Amino acid sequence: MIHKYIGAALLFFVLFCTLLLANIHTKDISTSYMSSKNLEIAECASACALPSHVDLSGDSFPVKRTEKQWRERLSPLAYSVTREQGTERPFSNAYHDNKAIGIYNCVGCNTPLFLSADKFDSGTGWPSFSRPIDPRTLGEKRDISYGMQRIEVHCKVCGAHQGHVFQDGPSDRGGLRYCINSASLLFEPLNDLDEVRAKVIAWYAAK
Ligand SMILES: [Zn+2]
Repeated sequence: MIHKYIGAALLFFVLFCTLLLANIHTKDISTSYMSSKNLEIAECASACALPSHVDLSGDSFPVKRTEKQWRERLSPLAYSVTREQGTERPFSNAYHDNKAIGIYNCVGCNTPLFLSADKFDSGTGWPSFSRPIDPRTLGEKRDISYGMQRIEVHCKVCGAHQGHVFQDGPSDRGGLRYCINSASLLFEPLNDLDEVRAKVIAWYAAK
């Protein structure tokens, strides 16, 4: 009789270990899923929601401000996102559903970073763009926080954290998705694409 109980306990133990191993294996896969092009939007959304832990403090940027100046310039949310690598809430941010024509400038230094023409609805609740206006204005850093492989993006002019870039964007637009915080941007509404073009050209001409 006692052998029966020992046998049942052993069987239970083996089953428990199998389930445990399967769970660990699933977690291993999830750490590398960022590179998959078939990424589910829901998974992306949760990846977007996690703050970045990239350290930009050692990097040098053309626009520099003191802590006091940053605090004066930025709202508490914009400070948290851009200076402390934070993340705002999805769907309740200023620009996730903004369809107006215009330019999205960096909140930290007014550098034009994204165009309305490159914005698309990713369904994640954050403003999403297929490309920056000029890759030279957007720095990238590998972000391995939370056991994930992500690429953090920031304004190369002032160091303001913007968000992350993923490889699951629209294939007909290059395949990238820049998942950006509204709090990192200041939208400048304009009348049409000609006006957008003129503004961007004027900004570069003044540099
Ligand atoms: Zn900036």
